[in-house]
Amino acid sequence: MRTSLPAAALATAAGARANDILRSCVHCGFCNATCPTYQLLGDELDGPRGRIYLIKEMLEAGVANATAQTHLDRCLTCRACETTCPSGVRYGELLEIGRDIVEDAVPRTWFERLQRRWLKAVVPFPARLRAWLRLGVVFRRFAPEPLRALIATPPPVPPHAASSEAASVLLLGGCVQSVMTPRVNTHLASLLSARGVAVRMADGEGCCGALALHLGDAEAARVAMRSNLEQLPWQGVERIVSTASGCGVTLKSYAQTLAEDERSVSAARAFANKVCDVAELLEGFEFKRHTEFRRVAWHAPCTLQHGQRLTGQVETLLARAGYELVPVRDGHLCCGAAGAYSVLQPDIATALQGRKIEALTEHRPDVVATANIGCQLHLRAATDIPVMHWVELLG
Ligand code: SF4
Ligand code: SF4
Repeated sequence: MRTSLPAAALATAAGARANDILRSCVHCGFCNATCPTYQLLGDELDGPRGRIYLIKEMLEAGVANATAQTHLDRCLTCRACETTCPSGVRYGELLEIGRDIVEDAVPRTWFERLQRRWLKAVVPFPARLRAWLRLGVVFRRFAPEPLRALIATPPPVPPHAASSEAASVLLLGGCVQSVMTPRVNTHLASLLSARGVAVRMADGEGCCGALALHLGDAEAARVAMRSNLEQLPWQGVERIVSTASGCGVTLKSYAQTLAEDERSVSAARAFANKVCDVAELLEGFEFKRHTEFRRVAWHAPCTLQHGQRLTGQVETLLARAGYELVPVRDGHLCCGAAGAYSVLQPDIATALQGRKIEALTEHRPDVVATANIGCQLHLRAATDIPVMHWVELLG
């Protein structure tokens, strides 16, 4: 794609990166075929190619408008388009740059501002989130439909898994996961310790930065990342693991997001090199079936299959443990959870959730397994079939 960004834009690191990405796009439109919002809404501007044009126009003209804001807001950040693109266009990185510009330039309604402030002030802080959920349960019936389905009493916090300072693996708890499904990490820690792998549970962990990135606030994300680099005891371990693939993909991107921060970039690179998904960590081990379930429908989160490009590892581990994986059509498509998306874009999120549940339950599984807390909560709100983290199925 030919570009003509003004010299002032090219002089910035973000502008230069955006220019490179834009030039790698040959506007073939293959990506539209796997874009959930394009499939649902049928508007070119709600597909990756249209959004790339919107970002190009913004950068060239030096102005952003409400149209660009609407269509960039509707993007799920699922990155299915990146997996499909034959030219290797780094769409997710371009979108972050585009959203940052829109966020600074186009005012939001008071309701949108309130929603975003609430998300940033509550969700990344487990104690606050727990308190809000307890309150939310009382007033649940007054909440709008998509939010109502997500409100549930947080389970009691299980006894902290044994944590060793000499461990080779640092296990991060995650913000929402540590509140809503804290047993996933304690179960993983016991699986690992039974196989001779000592785990250190993270202390002083803040949000990985994913939520701020989703909300187009790159600076807040960088602050969260720097804080984790300073606070977490990561230097002495070999591996840093998150059981939430949405956090994992962000943790792996620290070097990219902090690329222009001279003080933090080398630490960010060393940190990101140690991050692995739990599926990568468990690859060499054998497990047995840990539940009464047998037939599993596997939902691969976008952050695992498109963001981290990990496909097949979980299915292999589950099959080796004795589970039967049922076929699931359109496995590449997003379920609509997408971080804060189900709260900010409830109509699209609900439509995608319905399609995904239909695909997952078509062959009558006993359980749906997934790898990200956002998908787990979003899917379980729409089906009676149990939806679990896949690690909980292993023994
Ligand atoms: S598939 Fe890749 S090269 Fe083609 S329009 Fe989409 S982003 Fe551009
Ligand atoms: S990230 Fe997902 S929703 Fe956004 S343009 Fe790409 S495929 Fe479409």
